[in-house]
Amino acid sequence: MQLLDGKAISAQIKSEIKLEVENWVSTGGKKPHLAAILVGQDGASETYVASKIRSCEEIGFTSTLLRFGAETTEAQLLEAVESLNNNPDVDGFIVQLPLPKHISENTVMEAVDPSKDVDGFHPINVGRMCKGLPAYISATPFGILEMLIRAGIETSGKHCVVIGRSQIVGLPMSILMQRNEYPGNCTVTITHSKTQNLKEICQTADILIVALGRPEFVTADYVKEGAVVIDVGITRVEDATKKSGFAIKGDVNFADVAPKSSFITPVPGGVGLMTICGLLTNTLKAARKEIYK
Ligand code: NAP
Repeated sequence: MQLLDGKAISAQIKSEIKLEVENWVSTGGKKPHLAAILVGQDGASETYVASKIRSCEEIGFTSTLLRFGAETTEAQLLEAVESLNNNPDVDGFIVQLPLPKHISENTVMEAVDPSKDVDGFHPINVGRMCKGLPAYISATPFGILEMLIRAGIETSGKHCVVIGRSQIVGLPMSILMQRNEYPGNCTVTITHSKTQNLKEICQTADILIVALGRPEFVTADYVKEGAVVIDVGITRVEDATKKSGFAIKGDVNFADVAPKSSFITPVPGGVGLMTICGLLTNTLKAARKEIYK
């Protein structure tokens, strides 16, 4: 079994981006500028946004955090989105999800200018990705592809099973894994909560991508000998032995599954750390106008 070490791979990618930023700026390019909108006081969202801002600083981006109270209306948020759309200094921006229940996430995502949609959630970017056109690929799928590439994992002709069909992970992942390029060319099965015989389907996977949000759901009996197992899940579970009072668990029972797998991602220290690299890569592309002129 080989560990797909998100900590080491993400550090490597960040140092590569840092170098690219230095080159870009030294040849007259503007420092890439990422803005983030945070609505409300959700603890996990606060942590994610803080880490995105910190990463921007580490690699030489400019960053701006715009905070809004939980009572912010949809109209007020759309105004803020419009103002970032029209701000020529901002290359890309994200609206941290989830949003409070009274705000439609789809409406907000569609209001973001696709050329600044570095989260890759706008229907134009999703559609372009489906057609194989240049697009911002959303951060978590990007991170997973990058892990497969850097570990040199063969994907062509393999059976890839994705558990979960969410807009931000499962669905884009299933589309990317069937593309006619590397990583891709898999035969993909996408599964969800209504799937029958889930365990039997998973047992036929050469590559198993797990994103359902149920801690330690996948056990060794779901996994074929030698499979590549990518665990996307991140759930906080109470743990009195931890100072914070909680532990982070993936969707895969690591101790049980690891001995059967050829490659596996740990949680924490796996896909989660890679996600940010997708966002930073997209922001650099936005600054260089690589996708939208
Ligand atoms: P989500 O929107 O809640 O979607 C979960 C998906 O799993 C749904 O499609 C659901 O099916 C399916 N599902 C639920 N229970 C199932 C079951 N028993 N059997 C088969 N499928 C089942 O979740 P998400 O946003 O994709 O997130 C999934 C996990 O990844 C969470 O733990 C989340 O925190 C984590 N995550 C991590 C990162 C990262 O950077 N590592 C990024 C995003 C999310 P239905 O469609 O039928 O409801």
